[in-house]
Formats: sequence, C-alpha cells, structure tokens
Amino acid sequence: MPQVTRRDFLKIGAAGTGAAGLTALGFDMAQAVAAKQSFHIAGAKESHSVCPYCAVGCSLVAYTKTNSDGTTQLLQIEGNPDSPVNEGRLCPKGATAMQLATSARRVENPMYRAPGSDKWQQMTWDDMLNKLAQRVKDARDATFVAKDASGNTVNRTEGIAFAGGAAFSSEEGYFATKVMRGLGLVHLEQQARV
Ligand code: SF4
Repeated sequence: MPQVTRRDFLKIGAAGTGAAGLTALGFDMAQAVAAKQSFHIAGAKESHSVCPYCAVGCSLVAYTKTNSDGTTQLLQIEGNPDSPVNEGRLCPKGATAMQLATSARRVENPMYRAPGSDKWQQMTWDDMLNKLAQRVKDARDATFVAKDASGNTVNRTEGIAFAGGAAFSSEEGYFATKVMRGLGLVHLEQQARV
C-alpha cells in the first residue's frame, strides 16, 4: 500500500471520496466494483418469514440460492425493512436467526436424558413422540379431577400446563388450544403474555 502523507490525506479529503482519492489510499476501484457485483446475495431468492423467538413478531427476509446439485443454500437472514413491526431492525437474538439453520452446534435429533442420568442419548422422532404421548397420558390419568370438592362435575387435568410459542399462527394456536382443552387442561398460557 502506498504511503499517504498528511498533506495527501487532506487533498484526498478535499476531493471527497472520489476514485482518485480511493486509489491514492490503495483501494482498487475495479476490484471494488467487481466485489460489489459479486455481493453474496446478488440474484438470490428472497423469502419472507417471522422471527420465532418472541411475541414481537419481527419480520425477516431470508436469501437463498439453488446450487448446481439442486440443493438450497441459505445465504443470509435480515430484518425486513417493509415490516411496520420492526422496519428492518432485529434485536441481537433475532439477528442470530440464521444460526438456527446453519450452526454447527444445532441439535438435529430429539435428545433424551433419563431421570438421574448425566448423559443425553439420541432418539428417533417416533420413539420420542411415543414417550411424550405416554407421559401425557400418565400425568393426565394421575391428576384428572372429575368432580371438585363441592361435588360439581369439572373433568379437568390439573397436572399438565401448556405454553404456546411466539411463532404460532392463529390456526396453530386454535388447534393447540382445542387439543389441550380436549385433554382437560385448564392451565394454558402463551408466550405473548409472558
Ligand atoms: S427480533 Fe428480537 S424482538 Fe423481534 S421477534 Fe425476534 S426476538 Fe423478538
């Protein structure tokens, strides 16, 4: 990189950030233009989504490209500037949304740690769903209340609580509520209120 004297620097400043000044500072304008043209989201497909982390519901834009082998590669996730909710901004948690898909530390299978154990073991989705279903049934059977202390029929499950997630759509929220009420749950909560 060429040496720039203080006088050179002032001259560059007077000329603004024009090409001559940038070249004097060692920047290659041709390279800069080429770099801009190869910007890593250039030509990428733009998809809209919602941050899954909290009830604010900030809008996201995900940029993807299709590789030559047909696979889809996620290039970038950022705040959606057109959203009236976040106007392109994301909090530090939302700004890491891309790591949900790309982090090398992402857990991709159900993990189970038996009571008293200090080890996690990988399970199949089928085995984990069966285990969860069995736990729900056991807890419901053990805590179901058919009549309250005054003899009123209540048919409620007091031993299970349910909390909905911030990324629930209205339909998912409706469905989850129906299922939980069907099981007799009375303790229902939503992250939006937490
Ligand atoms: S970006 Fe932050 S504030 Fe917005 S929804 Fe995600 S977690 Fe909530």
